Order: sequence, then C-alpha cells, then structure tokens
Amino acid sequence: MFIDFHTHHDLKSPDLINLQTLHVTPELQAEELPNICSLGLHPWFIQLETWEAAWSNLVNLAKLSQIVAIGECGLDRNIDLSLETQISIFQRHIELAESLQKPLVIHCVRAFSELIALKKDTKSTVPWIIHGFNKKEEVFQQLLKHDFYFSFGGAILSDRSPILQAITTIPNGRFLLETDDRTDISIKQIYDRAAALRHVSLETLQTQLIETYHQLTRLS
Ligand SMILES: [Zn+2]
Repeated sequence: MFIDFHTHHDLKSPDLINLQTLHVTPELQAEELPNICSLGLHPWFIQLETWEAAWSNLVNLAKLSQIVAIGECGLDRNIDLSLETQISIFQRHIELAESLQKPLVIHCVRAFSELIALKKDTKSTVPWIIHGFNKKEEVFQQLLKHDFYFSFGGAILSDRSPILQAITTIPNGRFLLETDDRTDISIKQIYDRAAALRHVSLETLQTQLIETYHQLTRLS
C-alpha cells in the first residue's frame, strides 16, 4: 500500500491511499469531496472579499469523518497578501485543528521562524506536518527539534536536492511522502527513491509509513 499524503489530484487505485487536498471556497459542497481528503484555505488563493464565507464553510465541512487533516494552510512570504493577514487566518486553522484533533498540513515559504513561533505560542497538541519540504539542513534540524513532521515530494528525486541528508537520516515516524501537484512523477517513484536513500526495502518503508499515517491521523 502506498500513501500519497499530499496531492491535488484525484487518483484511484486499490493499493493507494490518495490524500487529496482541496482549497475550500464558499461554494464547496460535502457531496463533492473525495473519500478521504484534507481541507483548508491555501494562502495563494485567499481573497479578502470571500475568505470569511469560505472559512465558515470549512468549519462545517472539517467535522466530516473523511476529512483526515486540516490544510494545506500556512504562510508564504513570496505572495502579495500581507503576512499579518496570513498569520491571522493560519491561527484560525490551528484552532480548528486543535478543536477537532486533526493534524495540520502546512505550506511554508520563507516564514519558518514565524511558523516555529506560532507553534510555541499556541501550544498546539496536534501534529504539524510541513509538506513539500525542500530547505537546507539547518532549517530541517531546527524544525525537527521543534517536533514538526515532514512530507517529502519530488525534490528527493534530484541529486542536487538540499534535503537528501534529511530524507536519509530522519527518524522513522516523522515523515510521509507525496506527489503534490506534479503529474510527471508517481508516488511509487518517490517511495523507491526514499527506500534506496534510507537503505530499507520498499515493503519496510510501506509498513512504516502506514503506521506513521495512522498515528498522525489517529485512524486505526
Ligand atoms: Zn500542495
């Protein structure tokens, strides 16, 4: 069994848990949701005029049992929306995740110190999973120390990736794998590469990641 922990694609296969992530709009209906998914307001798509309506919709939908995680949500210093606004919307996600006891799937670009500060200040008890992590070792070590989890994607396929050390050494139980929005790669390729780098068999990695997935999403 493979787990694609963060994908924007709707893919069905008997040996795949496909955790599709959707950006919630005011119009999104429960009937449109995949069997399992994560829901949030992605910072890229937040519009000042509509986000509050989208937010109330998210609060209603997030209670459903097929919603196994909250996000993606987070902070991105490369976009026009002010970081202050992004932080206040992200804080709502943190509170929601906490009240439902579901993990947070986080998008973070150039705002890791703010992210760490928020984790400390809110004393959140749910797992914070940084998806698509692709930063240098120093940032990785700092996040690891602050109990973050990671979801690694296509970046690990590259021989020049700054996270090769991270994927090789990260303790079992602290990471999952993903394809995100890429259509040119498969989750199997990511698993094969991660297994090779970690010197474990594909089967061992699969068993480990199923356990991690169940642990993080509190499913049995
Ligand atoms: Zn994504």
